[in-house]
Amino acid sequence: RLHLAEAHKLEPATTRDGHVVEICANLGDSNGAAKAVAHGAEGVGLLRTEFIFMAHPQAPDLATQEAEYRRVFDALDGRPLVARTLDVGGDKPLPYWPVPEEENPFLGVRGVRLTLQRPHLMETQLRALLRASDGRPLRIMFPMVGNIDEWRQARDMTLALVAEIPQADLQLGIMVEVPSAALIAPALAREVDFFSIGTNDLTQYCLAIDRGHPTLSAQADGLHPAVLHLIDMTVRAAHAQGKWVGVCGELAGDPLAVPLLVGLGVNELSLSAGGIAEVKARVREISRTAARELAASALALDSAAAVRALAERF
Ligand code: PEP
Ligand code: MG
Repeated sequence: RLHLAEAHKLEPATTRDGHVVEICANLGDSNGAAKAVAHGAEGVGLLRTEFIFMAHPQAPDLATQEAEYRRVFDALDGRPLVARTLDVGGDKPLPYWPVPEEENPFLGVRGVRLTLQRPHLMETQLRALLRASDGRPLRIMFPMVGNIDEWRQARDMTLALVAEIPQADLQLGIMVEVPSAALIAPALAREVDFFSIGTNDLTQYCLAIDRGHPTLSAQADGLHPAVLHLIDMTVRAAHAQGKWVGVCGELAGDPLAVPLLVGLGVNELSLSAGGIAEVKARVREISRTAARELAASALALDSAAAVRALAERF
């Protein structure tokens, strides 16, 4: 079965009833893009840009960032790149970016909350992305958006730069990883081009369990029905406005979760390149009609364990 999955890794992932799910790669550096394409990635669904900022003793300048983003675009050869703006702060501080110590860093100044406080740094990153695209498909998304003003500020900052650096194929979206964003998804969906669901943080914040907690993290299961409801709300809101939805958290690479996510209507899955062949094979085994019924049943359950048991039987 794995051999068969390998043999077809470069082909699209189409369900038995003809529904195509886009399969992309998560990248944490600029070297992995070519390898991801060789593994069957149809684009990059999440570029974690933190690597550029961690690799330097001070904030990387425009030219340094632009060169890194260009490398990724070049390797993708026309495939789309979803780049996430810098997602640090809280527990991931940068040495040259002092943030006041916080008692609860995961609930503090992180993600877009931090970059909006440093417009100059954020503009430099946006400018580098816009310059690197050269007309190639660029999607920019903002991490940790929890209210509509954060999205609007980030969007307006980006659009002001687009006026200087015109784009042939640009979409702007947000990560849905704070429960409040899922809950106001109908309002956000009117304004964004896409949502990408970050199930790692969405699960952490929905279940109130630190994703890296030494004893509790196993319970931070993205298949908890509460998390599935947030995903369901997000997808419904997006589709009502004709927008697409991806999942770029760990759940996208969990073969057991794939039929549920497809059944909930997710359009794109983004995961580490090594898992792409298997996830594509999993999509081909299922029909969307059956996956929808599975998802509807899962939403009515009361625990992650019950959802996993149901998915195992599927
Ligand atoms: C997530 O939160 O699910 C996500 C994809 O982002 P990160 O793991 O980088 O926080
Ligand atoms: Mg996250």
